Amino acid sequence: MSRFDAIILGAGASGLWCAMTAGARGRKVALLDHGAKTARKVRVSGGGKCNFTNLDVSPSHYLCANPHFVKSALARLSPWDVVGFLGEHGVTFEERDHGQLFTLEGAGRVAGALQERCTRTGVEFLIGREIGQVSGNGPFSVEFGGETVTGDSLVLALGGPSWPQVGATDLGFRLAGQFGLALTPTRPGLVPLVFPKKRQALCAEMAGNALPATVETGGARFTDPLLFTHRGVSGPAALQASSYWREHQLVTIDFLPGLPLEDFLTENRASNQQLRNLLARVLPKRLPPLLLDAPLAEAQVSQLSKAQIEAACEAIHRFAITPSGTEGYAKAEVTVGGVDTARISSKTMAARDVPGLYVIGETLDVTGHLGGFNLHWAFASGAACGSVL
Ligand SMILES: Cc1cc2nc3c(=O)[nH]c(=O)nc-3n(C[C@H](O)[C@H](O)[C@H](O)COP(=O)(O)OP(=O)(O)OC[C@H]3O[C@@H](n4cnc5c(N)ncnc54)[C@H](O)[C@@H]3O)c2cc1C
Repeated sequence: MSRFDAIILGAGASGLWCAMTAGARGRKVALLDHGAKTARKVRVSGGGKCNFTNLDVSPSHYLCANPHFVKSALARLSPWDVVGFLGEHGVTFEERDHGQLFTLEGAGRVAGALQERCTRTGVEFLIGREIGQVSGNGPFSVEFGGETVTGDSLVLALGGPSWPQVGATDLGFRLAGQFGLALTPTRPGLVPLVFPKKRQALCAEMAGNALPATVETGGARFTDPLLFTHRGVSGPAALQASSYWREHQLVTIDFLPGLPLEDFLTENRASNQQLRNLLARVLPKRLPPLLLDAPLAEAQVSQLSKAQIEAACEAIHRFAITPSGTEGYAKAEVTVGGVDTARISSKTMAARDVPGLYVIGETLDVTGHLGGFNLHWAFASGAACGSVL
């Protein structure tokens, strides 16, 4: 039987950062994972380039039942701390739109840096076997491939079930439940939206086309590129909105953000072009006839009535649809919801009612916007926890 100060379940982004922080403080740490490799999600993140943080990290970029929860941990790990850590391992970066920082060397180097720092600080990796029964109340025991590992503290860093292709499961939620922690409802987030059957023709015609759009749902709105898929919409604007979308809820899309159609038509009121052709100057050519009914699409701009102009504005600026669903966990970058933060310390990530138990990363009810915010949360919550283990 091996005895440790802390057992961390999950060698992903949060678990690795937590382990290296605790290891650097001289703690004896075991990091357990069923994957043959560590940090598999990090390795596929950001299209292989890992959008590891964002210069604009702030609580407003996170969904959580308690919007104040993230403040303490975020305040103690800045984007420049992450840049500095990676820099020490020879990983450089570039800044893209909206303050997103991506590696130049590739996501594997971020995973490598985390793993290397853990190794250097004496963290013991126990990987490639299944986690069995977890028991105790400090000390905790974990069955792992025929062995029993014991630790004074136990950290749940098991992520959520999104993207199961790289070993994601709901074990973190199940173990949290076993210890009596409450869960907020979970659903796929940062995921493509699927349109209902009656709007499938629009998707079939437009699949592969991208355009800037504002997508609004559940009280949130995002202006970013939107991509039509064969079944609905994806691209940053749709992915961001998806985290706020709930079943049966309406989604509104403005296909011409920043260009009021009424003004554009007024400027062109002498035009003898058909409306669909004039609109092809500012929208993908095939889109206007799919959004407007035929008589309106084919009407001469100079002949448009006030009611027709209003109808066109409605169709282009306020396209309303109730998605039939999302593409689900298989294509979701994150899991929205998770362990309720009401009984978790925002300073240490400790479960208030179970001494010695901690929850970090995506297993918690904390979900970041697209743009490096999720990995930053994984690192920040891992750092907060690792500094007290
Ligand atoms: C395709 C994709 C791209 C992404 N790109 C970005 C990006 O560019 N920027 C960004 O900020 N975020 C990105 N994310 C989100 C980000 O990767 C996660 O939010 C982050 O990794 C969460 O960290 P975590 O430590 O909580 O969980 P994870 O990193 O998922 O780690 C959980 C660990 O637990 C292990 N585990 C799970 N179940 C079990 C089990 N039953 N037994 C044993 N071990 C188990 C897993 O193997 C894994 O190693 C992306 C996600 C995906 C899916």
